[in-house]
Amino acid sequence: MMRARERFLRQALHLFYPDACVSCGTLLQYSEEMICSRCLQEFDAFSTVDASTAAVTKVFRAHHPSVSPPVRAAVLYRFHHHDRLQGVLHDMKYLGVYRIAWYFGRAIARYGAGAFSNDLPEMVMPVPLHPLRIAERTYNQSALIAQSLAGELGLPLCSDALIRRVYTSSQTGLTAAERHANLRGAFEVHGSALSGHVLLVDDVMTTGSTIAEAMSALRSSGVDRVSLAIVALAARSRT
Ligand SMILES: [Zn+2]
Repeated sequence: MMRARERFLRQALHLFYPDACVSCGTLLQYSEEMICSRCLQEFDAFSTVDASTAAVTKVFRAHHPSVSPPVRAAVLYRFHHHDRLQGVLHDMKYLGVYRIAWYFGRAIARYGAGAFSNDLPEMVMPVPLHPLRIAERTYNQSALIAQSLAGELGLPLCSDALIRRVYTSSQTGLTAAERHANLRGAFEVHGSALSGHVLLVDDVMTTGSTIAEAMSALRSSGVDRVSLAIVALAARSRT
């Protein structure tokens, strides 16, 4: 819910600085933020956190049967190749449109707040990039989403405990088994032992190899339970 003061400011600012939809470029109405309602309607949204948790659990059962699925998985959308959402995710990841990551962090917070209200994770943690990858791209989009999400949920953000120590080239086009083999042992936890319930954040999940590997590293370091916050689950993971 947009607060009254924020709404007033948006209305006033909109007169002078109308925003454009990051997906289609049309001017936004003052009540719209970042993505116009017409584009949002085209996105394949999950109806509830229960529904997205079931979809993610299915991917784990299919591709990572030895890894316990997350407690809950708050995923906003399924994404399909060449759909509008894919373009928005690309701009967030490669073109430095940071505010898209902030927007998705807030959107996941709104979507997941009810499901997490009785079982709030103790901290929010992004899936890290390898330092060389950050040097190439200059930022980690998942860390930006995590920062925004943590702020909205009022939870601590922990960005430096989980480390990616293996540099992997693009996983696109690889099978689930190949992805998994590339990522084995890719993560480790630095610093003091962790515990409790962690909310792990990433932008996109395809076969779940990266996330499963990160979850295994967290559990080995003492984390009891892991939930997920993800913008989009690749539609081919449906089977
Ligand atoms: Zn649009």
